[in-house]
Amino acid sequence: MKNFSHPDWQELVAADSATLWHPYASATQAPDVFPVVSAKGVRLTLADGRELVDGMASWWCAIHGYNHPVMNRALGEQLEQMSHVMFGGLTHPPAVKLARILTDITPASLNRVFFSDSGSVAVEVALKMALQYWYSVGRPDKQKLVALRNGYHGDTFGAMAVCDPVTGMHHLFGDVLPRHHFAPAPPCPFDEPCSDSDIKAMADLLADRHHEIAAVIVEPVVQGAGGMRFYSPEYLVKLRALCDAFDVLLIFDEIATGFGRTGKLFALEHAGIVPDILCLGKALTGGYMTLAATLCNSRIAEGISEGEAGAFMHGPTFMGNPLACSAAIASTELLLSQPWQRSVQRINAALETGLAPARDLPAVAEVRTLGAIGVIELKQPVDMKVVQPLFVERGVWVRPFGKLVYVMPPFIMNDEDLAALTAAMVDVVASLGG
Ligand SMILES: *Cc1c(COP(=O)(O)O)cnc(C)c1O
Repeated sequence: MKNFSHPDWQELVAADSATLWHPYASATQAPDVFPVVSAKGVRLTLADGRELVDGMASWWCAIHGYNHPVMNRALGEQLEQMSHVMFGGLTHPPAVKLARILTDITPASLNRVFFSDSGSVAVEVALKMALQYWYSVGRPDKQKLVALRNGYHGDTFGAMAVCDPVTGMHHLFGDVLPRHHFAPAPPCPFDEPCSDSDIKAMADLLADRHHEIAAVIVEPVVQGAGGMRFYSPEYLVKLRALCDAFDVLLIFDEIATGFGRTGKLFALEHAGIVPDILCLGKALTGGYMTLAATLCNSRIAEGISEGEAGAFMHGPTFMGNPLACSAAIASTELLLSQPWQRSVQRINAALETGLAPARDLPAVAEVRTLGAIGVIELKQPVDMKVVQPLFVERGVWVRPFGKLVYVMPPFIMNDEDLAALTAAMVDVVASLGG
């Protein structure tokens, strides 16, 4: 990394590789990491003063960009009140107000909110809700889940067990991981209908096994970390009907898609159907704090509460953290106070135009966009050690994984920065050859 000679840089990177573990990384073959010292708007400032246009929004989260004055003020004001109190036996205005907002902006039947600290835990909570519901209503035999291949729902054990078995490396965790059922990833593309044959494997699975199945869990419309695939909302309409027919609960994991990313506030709006349980996270706080929410309907809430345990058996220490709730209130109000649909459409147009030249490149299998998501799928996986510095040298932050070079920029990114971002993606992919 020849240019990266700033003293702070070298010191940070050396100390990092001596002590830290990064996401999905080796401890002994430390990955190349780039020290960031500040972030503002859509730019990350590196330790040597260089600025990168951020295409990742810190993994779907920073929809308003970084260091936003409205967000900063909201957190500062909450800090003056209290940063945290336990949620057992206590409540507070930020949690109550945020729960109101979330039940207002999601479908009406989702009227009960459970807060947790991260997306994976929100998924754990959703799975526990489904299992405890069936136990409570006298159907303890319904304890299996159905998930989609190419799905991603988080890294904790329960969540991992419903991730794609191959990319989720289920073999590493052997018998500790519960064994659930998997249906093929929906083959019908986003802007096409979904035929009965497209959902036949799922329908057969539910017909055969519904007596033991508690719930189906899917990421609606966009399968994120499991392949950045977009599929037909009609699949979800058919899936809802199947779940109703076989008395199976439906869980939507909107941790990546929530808060406008796909062009609708929630991806479920593309299909016009409502799940029994909904998981939110990531952009919930605009990337300021870690917070997630699991919403459910009265059937689940009452079934659990009137069952043997008389209570839902989960309670995180940092549940309903006031700082995180305040960030989520500020972020959601900020989003809804502006014509965010227009921003997402504008970004989509810029991604379409900017990424189009990649379609002709020999290394490219497919280019696709949806809302403020742009994906170049390659024929071969990229070598991160080679590719990551190429993006940094071009002044952008893009973090590919596997065959996917993709972006989900902050909604505030202007056309000039979007053009620079997409040009860098096309350039780097072109440099990979065939
Ligand atoms: C990121 C993600 C999760 C896990 O969230 P964490 O906050 O990383 O635990 C779960 N589901 C989906 C769809 C995600 O994109």
